[in-house]
Amino acid sequence: MRLVPRAAALLALAAIAAAAQDADEPAAAAGSEPATRLPEPRLIGPRRGEERVRAARRNGANTLTEKSMREGLDWLARHAAEGGGWDADDFAARCAVSVEQDREPCDGVGKGQHGEPVPCPFDDAISALATLAFLGDGHLPGTPDDPYADLVERSLERLRSASGTWALPLATLCFAEAEAMERAGRYRDDVDRGVAALLGKRQKDGAWGYAAPWRPGSDMPYSALCVQALIAARDAGGDVPDDLGAGVGTWMDTLEVDAKGRVAYLVDGRRYGYTPTTTNAHLAAAMRALLGVGLDGAAHKRSLALLARKRPVWKISFRKAKVRGREIEVQLGHLSMYQWWYGTIATHQAGGSTWTAWWGKLKGALVGHQRDDGCAAGSWDPVGEYERLTGGRVFATALGVLMLQEPYRHRRIER
Ligand SMILES: [Zn+2]
Repeated sequence: MRLVPRAAALLALAAIAAAAQDADEPAAAAGSEPATRLPEPRLIGPRRGEERVRAARRNGANTLTEKSMREGLDWLARHAAEGGGWDADDFAARCAVSVEQDREPCDGVGKGQHGEPVPCPFDDAISALATLAFLGDGHLPGTPDDPYADLVERSLERLRSASGTWALPLATLCFAEAEAMERAGRYRDDVDRGVAALLGKRQKDGAWGYAAPWRPGSDMPYSALCVQALIAARDAGGDVPDDLGAGVGTWMDTLEVDAKGRVAYLVDGRRYGYTPTTTNAHLAAAMRALLGVGLDGAAHKRSLALLARKRPVWKISFRKAKVRGREIEVQLGHLSMYQWWYGTIATHQAGGSTWTAWWGKLKGALVGHQRDDGCAAGSWDPVGEYERLTGGRVFATALGVLMLQEPYRHRRIER
């Protein structure tokens, strides 16, 4: 275990505290100051005990979806890097390969940002997503008899030194979830550091742009991650500004929405060759739901209507197309676990039949297409757009688990 002395001391403290308390009972660590007291969580859901069971049941999880979720965690644990976290393109080094049993290593390595055959540059971000999957099932460092406690400990430790634009909001989200669940102050500094760094990157237009240093203006994918992190950080005592919703909402209102309800990637996206997409409509619906802005507005209603027409179906095909004289393969259908992830957050927040209809399709798509053979058992093949092109099998499997946890992963934010 890679532990700095301070973390080791805190871990020992927390272990004592954990032993003295019921897993359900959010209690402060021994000797904690009032500063570590947290507000009642508004977003981060109950991942342990009776409250989780009730939320799971209420929102449609069942023994099949829970079994599938746990098998996903098992695959992730078997393919974790030794020092914690995950290596999106070298995880097959951990595969249980056996010539006698005809067990092949897993395929589906991560690639470059646009599918280039290079080492995946998003190991820290993908490690954070996989760590979230374990936090979603209630696994915390220092929990006695928890087989995943050490893995989560090592992975969170790795995320403390995570670098990279995409890793920042996802690592912050991990620390916010760990702190809000444990409520012992162990990750409070990490949350505060993450929130400060994210707010420091906020653009004049109110949101975030991953390419901000060289391309002015915010973009949807990066803003969506930052919003998730900041709304979760609020549950962990993070100091999130009051104008977050209004600022991001005003920026979103300037984005093009086409006749089909698809949403632009940037305010002037067409200048850079980006046309509005279905995926960005899923992101927009999730962001407005998390921020509580524009929920009665036409833009949000159009996004939810598009989501209702694009519920998860595990089906994919391709057609050839010519773009600027170059022949490319275009994916047909909307198999994208990345897209579904945001659709899952948005529809769960919407609740009612919007949620039950989405969840009905989602659980069929995920449970019915999880691998159950060989070393790959428990994982999902990275066939959807972003999984195939960039994140690979670790990314796909982390997203699959996160979506199956949605019934208790998040609360419906009360307004
Ligand atoms: Zn494997």
